[in-house]
Amino acid sequence: MKKLAFGMMRLPLLDENDESSVDFNQVNDMADLFVERGFTFFDTAYPYHMGNCEVAFRKAVVERYPRDSYVIIDKLPLFSITSEDQLEPIFAEQLERTGVEYFDYYLLHNVSGFSEPGFLDVDSFAFANRKKEEGKIKHLGLSTHANAEYLDSILTMHPEMEFVLLQINYLDWESEGVESRKCYEVACKHNKPVMVMEPLKGGFLADIPPEAEKLMKDYNPDASVISWALRFIASLDNVCMILTGASSLEQLEENIEDFENFTPLNDEEYEILEKVTEIINSNIAVDCTKCKYCLEACPEEINIPKIFDLYNSEKMLDPAPWTPIGNAYLNYSKLPGAGIASDCTECGMCVEECPQHIDIPEVMKDVAKTFETEYYGFVD
Ligand code: SF4
Ligand code: SF4
Repeated sequence: MKKLAFGMMRLPLLDENDESSVDFNQVNDMADLFVERGFTFFDTAYPYHMGNCEVAFRKAVVERYPRDSYVIIDKLPLFSITSEDQLEPIFAEQLERTGVEYFDYYLLHNVSGFSEPGFLDVDSFAFANRKKEEGKIKHLGLSTHANAEYLDSILTMHPEMEFVLLQINYLDWESEGVESRKCYEVACKHNKPVMVMEPLKGGFLADIPPEAEKLMKDYNPDASVISWALRFIASLDNVCMILTGASSLEQLEENIEDFENFTPLNDEEYEILEKVTEIINSNIAVDCTKCKYCLEACPEEINIPKIFDLYNSEKMLDPAPWTPIGNAYLNYSKLPGAGIASDCTECGMCVEECPQHIDIPEVMKDVAKTFETEYYGFVD
């Protein structure tokens, strides 16, 4: 089995301001490429692309390939569940949207503090176990963005979980906020195989500071920065699957090529990655993975991940009085209904949704200062 899954979280869009506007034709091409190269795992979830991720999977794969030629991973959205009577309809809707009779792999999506009502007040674990007994789920596991101690307690309470999905990449490995290494070690302690999400930290590790990239290129001019990130994960013994979230045919092809040429990292390469991590950490402003969980929470309709992406890019460059990034922020600010950083009322509703535990309203203050007053002064 090839250990690369097509993560369908960030599919190409026809309108970049409309999450639901999935470019179905391009997704078909991506699925074809993936299958042609011998890969079989597809990862989807209920909320991705406002439901259209599951639909895109059906159109691209289920309606075009025999059932025994692919494997689907789907997830129960704990964070949207507040009562028992939601469970059956959501599960039925997922089967209908995807067009399959059963899920090969099914996860309780993001078991953590902020989704507790979805699994403590409602017994979602029991529900998922029933679906497994009925044959609607072949393998049952959980995903989490919580810390290692929390994961340990959940796996102790639920030894029936067959696997876990964790955020792991070389930048988060020793991160105190994400605790990738510690979470991985907890999974190993409980004998759970690990699937990996965010191997490129939301694409962030595809675009690292030039001095960090130079270290990699000096060592191996032929290896891309993405291949270093994927090899870091694939070198971990207990990793059974890596979910990579490609947004275009080209990105997917690059991931496939990097993955096909896989060799484990050697000691010298691990040392280089440590130095790369130090360089990135000294440049990174905000640790956003662009997961978009915060988007619907914001009453001011601030596109938080988009703004943070621009902010990170701005901070990576030498600040100039007027850069293309500032221009992009200005363009964003002119979109109808788009909230800008200075619209933030510090209500804190986004913070509860953020798996990276970012103090979003605090960062927003500096974003507003950076883009709206200090450099560009387009806000009165
Ligand atoms: S704290 Fe600011 S960014 Fe967060 S939800 Fe409230 S208004 Fe939006
Ligand atoms: S701010 Fe947090 S919740 Fe929002 S996109 Fe970034 S990582 Fe995800």
